[in-house]
Amino acid sequence: MSGALVQGVAADGFVDRHIGTTPPEQRAMLDLLGHDSVESLVRAAVPDAISALPLPSSVLPEPVGEQEALAELRTLASRNRVNRSMIGLGYYGTVTPSVIQRNVLENPSWYTAYTPYQPEISQGRLEALINFQTMVSELTGLTTANASMLDESTAVVEGMLLARRASKSASNRFVVDADALPQTKALLAGRARAVGIELVEVSLAAAEPASLPESFGVFVQYPGASGRVWDPAPVVDAVHAVGGLAVVAADLLALTLLTAPGEFGADVAVGTSQRFGVPMGFGGPHAGYMAVRTGLERQLPGRLVGVSQDAVGNPAYRLSLQTREQHIRREKATSNICTAQVLLAVMASMYAVYHGPWGLTHIARRTHQHATDLAAGAQAAGLALAADVFFDTVALAVPGRAHEIVAAAHERGYLLHAPDADTVSVAVDETTTREDLEAVGDLLGFAVPTGSTSPIPAGLERTSDFLTHPVFRTHRSETSMMRYLKHLADKDYALDRGMIPLGSCTMKLNAATEMAAVTWPEFAGIHPFAPAADVEGYLELIGQLEGWLAEVTGYDTVSLQPNAGSQGELAGLLAIRGYHLSRGDEARTVCLIPESAHGTNAASAVLAGLRVVVVACDAQGNVDLGDLRAKVASHADELAALMVTYPSTHGVYEHDIRDITDAVHDAGGQVYVDGANLNALLGYARFGEFGGDVSHLNLHKTFCIPHGGGGPGVGPVAAKAHLAPFLPGHPLAQQADRRTGAVQEAGERLAHAGVPVSAAPYGSPSILPISWAYVRMMGTRGLTDATGAAVLAANYVAARLREHYPVLYAGEGGLVAHECILDLRPLREATGVTVDDVAKRLIDYGFHAPTMSFPVAGTLMVEPTESEDLAELDRFVEAMIAIRAEADRVGAGEWAADESPLRGAPHTAESVIAGEWTAAYTREEAVYPVRSLVRSKYWPPVRRIDQAYGDRNLFCACPPVEAFA
Ligand SMILES: *Cc1c(COP(=O)(O)O)cnc(C)c1O
Repeated sequence: MSGALVQGVAADGFVDRHIGTTPPEQRAMLDLLGHDSVESLVRAAVPDAISALPLPSSVLPEPVGEQEALAELRTLASRNRVNRSMIGLGYYGTVTPSVIQRNVLENPSWYTAYTPYQPEISQGRLEALINFQTMVSELTGLTTANASMLDESTAVVEGMLLARRASKSASNRFVVDADALPQTKALLAGRARAVGIELVEVSLAAAEPASLPESFGVFVQYPGASGRVWDPAPVVDAVHAVGGLAVVAADLLALTLLTAPGEFGADVAVGTSQRFGVPMGFGGPHAGYMAVRTGLERQLPGRLVGVSQDAVGNPAYRLSLQTREQHIRREKATSNICTAQVLLAVMASMYAVYHGPWGLTHIARRTHQHATDLAAGAQAAGLALAADVFFDTVALAVPGRAHEIVAAAHERGYLLHAPDADTVSVAVDETTTREDLEAVGDLLGFAVPTGSTSPIPAGLERTSDFLTHPVFRTHRSETSMMRYLKHLADKDYALDRGMIPLGSCTMKLNAATEMAAVTWPEFAGIHPFAPAADVEGYLELIGQLEGWLAEVTGYDTVSLQPNAGSQGELAGLLAIRGYHLSRGDEARTVCLIPESAHGTNAASAVLAGLRVVVVACDAQGNVDLGDLRAKVASHADELAALMVTYPSTHGVYEHDIRDITDAVHDAGGQVYVDGANLNALLGYARFGEFGGDVSHLNLHKTFCIPHGGGGPGVGPVAAKAHLAPFLPGHPLAQQADRRTGAVQEAGERLAHAGVPVSAAPYGSPSILPISWAYVRMMGTRGLTDATGAAVLAANYVAARLREHYPVLYAGEGGLVAHECILDLRPLREATGVTVDDVAKRLIDYGFHAPTMSFPVAGTLMVEPTESEDLAELDRFVEAMIAIRAEADRVGAGEWAADESPLRGAPHTAESVIAGEWTAAYTREEAVYPVRSLVRSKYWPPVRRIDQAYGDRNLFCACPPVEAFA
């Protein structure tokens, strides 16, 4: 099928395979809408203030086909060198069990799922996440763990902020362990400064606890960056005595052998689960974790899975305390985390399921034995150790020779770390072999003995049990493991079953070719602080992708460091703040945010040290220009920024966007354009050309990184040149000249020297090949076509459903952007049928519900994306029409709302076969409301879940097996 009828064709037809609707289908859809072409539809939908013309195709290189893209990726990969990393510092070699790689990481049932906001269709991933929480909570010895954090260093920052909220101390000071990871120190410094916290660095292992400075909390690295293992109990007691909290970053593998943080009194434990089977990937993605003691669970940031029950009393999982999520808390938010690291948390939890407590302990013992032997060899040769007690990292005194030794090791294929000119540190891990130890000993001039005695004193040895739940002790054989993963995946609805029409989330195709390179060892096996010479391919790929993203957004510079949209927002706002401060504009601290904004916007502003002032929206969903002008005028001298989403979260293109950005600039403010909805604009218009100074994009929305059940994500921040110096820098970034060969006229990269927002210099690089491949195979025309197809699909759905459900906030000509909001409030008034009923009934029809009650309560926001074909769009439209007809039967008095299939939804198989059927509707109406379901049916494993029950009875660990009897 040629794409010529509507627009261009890519080399081998990838564009046509990415876009679901064929040219004849698009023709039929356009006819319904009364437009001649996709281009004329888009131009009618987008206001004149933005000239919505397809970008010239020279903006990006000519696209290539799938095989060529893979070949180019292979060439880039071949320019990375996978040396044996012994750098440590929070990143370790690990073996991803093949059964997990194949059945989770490479399985679309796991990676294409959405965040489990609809718990009835998410029981599989919710179970995997509660396994993660149980694993973290038991290893750390604390009662409640979340799932998950973005990485260890940002988790430490969240721990600091939690300590400040929960502390009884009036102090503004936070004490930081001098032996903290260098990247964590850098993040803490930047983030503390932004919110006015004073940091004091202390060598805690050597400190006299009684003489610690007064503080609201203390941060301990356990074991330390130097490898040191010591007893933090006295320090923890000392901070408790002054009303402060103890935040401990702990290595999960070490905790199988060492006393748990909860056992020495820590209030909060944080860290990473990377070494539980998740490749280093040049820095990410990996799941960070946070666990808290009893009494602090309601302070936890991020998502928390809990146990509740369904409508017939069966246990069922759900996200607990969802009202704490930031879209509710807005400017009172305490954390801006939205997208987390679900897929990686699932992998880490399955690593624990696979190995069980004995397997993990065995890996830890072997690792520790290697380190112990290395240390013994060094000591016998007269080399002094920086710390006598350690777990896996041995720091050796080599006066004046450290850099020379690191260089010699690199020659031989080993990466060691030199914290200073006189010290070399060697970190061993699950993958370290005896040959590796001998090679390192050889380099340092000593022989490595075997069977040396562990230096860990009895008082620090772990004696408590962990991973006691049967799930961690059952799946010993690969057959059992494979079936457990399949059993969980079968409970869930992901993109491999059907459409996920979630407004504001852009659940589009994640093509197999785009995914291919993620697990290649040349991308997966690289330490984030590897020398620049080892990562030329990565730096080239990153430089190209940054260049392409700059081109399509009309900005001058891009940073791929932020690990989610929320982190891109924070980075962009910190850049704005840094810019104002550099000009002596200290008073500019007000951030204007329209009331329709995504909740992360206000939360990020608060975390950047800005004051949120809310701007009203008018009845059409546009920013109220009068109110905006009034707020700009009354805050003119303190105006830092306006944060505006384009197109708006209401799914419309603001027609006044230029007046809005001009008004802010005239008052000396900067304009932040939230670009998470770029799928409505990509290839047609560029933020940088209509007034944006800085934006974030979501590569896990517009640029095909799969949602992973709630992460990973990448939230690049793109900006005009004047903000470049304030974009995220990193103290350990590889310094290489990353000339972008692929983008014409691209110059040298503008230097970024602002506050880092991720632990790793390039955030989550191992998933960047996905977006790279997407852009490489689409080219400018392909991206433009995709946008057109997305806008066409949304308008088609809106037009077909309009007579059944009012469409809110359509712009001029009744057109929407790439999503549409269906107003269910009139239906509720007329029939009592709620937005929840419709969402749950869609499950019976074989659909994932659209976004519920955001940005407007009582509505559904539908975003079909360009990847669905017309048959699937029609199947959805027809399901919605059939549901409307059911609601009308309720309205006509045929069924009471409570006795209707809408309220009974979703229906399990058991519900229609068990016992006598007493419902007011038939079994067929319950589960086969349309005939096509007979041949292809998704069966939810539970009935509707009671949200309130789970919050009243908060329980966030694996329930006993008997609960499911
Ligand atoms: C998704 C989204 C965000 C947040 O992105 P995360 O990656 O989940 O942090 C911010 N703004 C808008 C408009 C979004 O749709």
